Amino acid sequence: MNTAPDQIAQDKVVDLDYKLTVNGEVVDQSEPGEPLTYLHGHSNIIPGLEKALEGKLVGDAFQEIIQPEDGYGERDEANTEELAREDFEDDIEIGETYYAQAEDGSVIPFTVMEVNGDTVKVDFNPPLAGMVLTFDVKVVGVRDATAEELEHGHAHTPDMHEHE
Ligand SMILES: [Zn+2]
Repeated sequence: MNTAPDQIAQDKVVDLDYKLTVNGEVVDQSEPGEPLTYLHGHSNIIPGLEKALEGKLVGDAFQEIIQPEDGYGERDEANTEELAREDFEDDIEIGETYYAQAEDGSVIPFTVMEVNGDTVKVDFNPPLAGMVLTFDVKVVGVRDATAEELEHGHAHTPDMHEHE
């Protein structure tokens, strides 16, 4: 299938204005004039949104409701853990996101659920796991990816810092 130059397809770099609503509450949105930029077809964004954007044109605006399995996955109650209170700083905020370092050096975010005496119950599920996501999206730009972007598997923006 032929695609227009301003149509979203594999290996296009896409600029999006978006608003993410969960249970009627806006949890994330792009700032005016500062769209989200991503490389299409490389799983840089959640599967349900990437699928909905396939074939869309610059100027297209739409709403997409995405179930957890096409979003951040289902919540896994086993994916919680009790950590020692002493491993935290004095101030712990319930609901706040903290970061643990894994043995391979990668950084894992988690959310503090409860503080019980000497232990802290934490949740390693993504904060939006199990949620139905409503995205209001407008396509504001589409271009071909550069060879470097394709090699890296993500989009580059002018304000991006140096990276591997
Ligand atoms: Zn890169």
